Amino acid sequence: MNVAIIAAAGSGSRMVSDRPKQFLQLAGIPIIFHTLKPFEQCESIQEVIVVLPAEESAGFLALAGKFQIRKLSKVVPGGATRAESVKRGLLAVREATAEIVAVHDGVRPFVMPEEIDRTVTAAREHGAAILVAPATDTIKQVDRGVVTRTLERSELRHALTPQCFRYELLRRAYDRADLGDTTLTDDSALVERLGEKVFVIEGSARNIKITTRGDLLLAEALLKGKDLDF
Ligand code: C5P
Repeated sequence: MNVAIIAAAGSGSRMVSDRPKQFLQLAGIPIIFHTLKPFEQCESIQEVIVVLPAEESAGFLALAGKFQIRKLSKVVPGGATRAESVKRGLLAVREATAEIVAVHDGVRPFVMPEEIDRTVTAAREHGAAILVAPATDTIKQVDRGVVTRTLERSELRHALTPQCFRYELLRRAYDRADLGDTTLTDDSALVERLGEKVFVIEGSARNIKITTRGDLLLAEALLKGKDLDF
């Protein structure tokens, strides 16, 4: 059994809105339901656990019925940090049957079903695999306003989600993690710290994380041009 954990318990403080960004509407539907759709459609995931702010779960469940999210198995209340929220999702996974866990941001609605399938397949083979996109800008390392190093662009990737791991490996990584560490921005970093190899799967740059109002405008445009090359 392969399980997706959708981290959607953030407060959306960078959006400057009265609603967390995962519940804002995109083409009339809350973003979180756009995000759940490719997980419904993909072949490799059998069960979905959604981590939400506690006060959102009743409204979410009503809509999940309406949108017929048939893989939804549990709704779990989130924590103060993303890592805490993912850990709570992980604790809700049925250990006896879990094989691969795919962790995905609730605000990345443009991931494609085949990208999820390719990442899960690689994690089954190697233990850990994450979706990435090529870096298109040159990235500078800076210190106190001055460039200290220019990084080799061809070696750089944007870390996207899903990030997929064997259940036992991700549990081990999270059991050792400092969940209050705000510099901890992805799951892969915890697995890397164990000395484990994390394989990369090249994905599309369309798989943006909706963080700001500008991202929301971009998302509207992406949705309209869904079949266009990006
Ligand atoms: O804030 P950040 O960009 O890291 O959020 C990425 C994802 O993690 C979002 O979908 C957000 O809802 C989720 N998150 C969470 N619990 C938190 C903070 C963020 O599930 N406490």
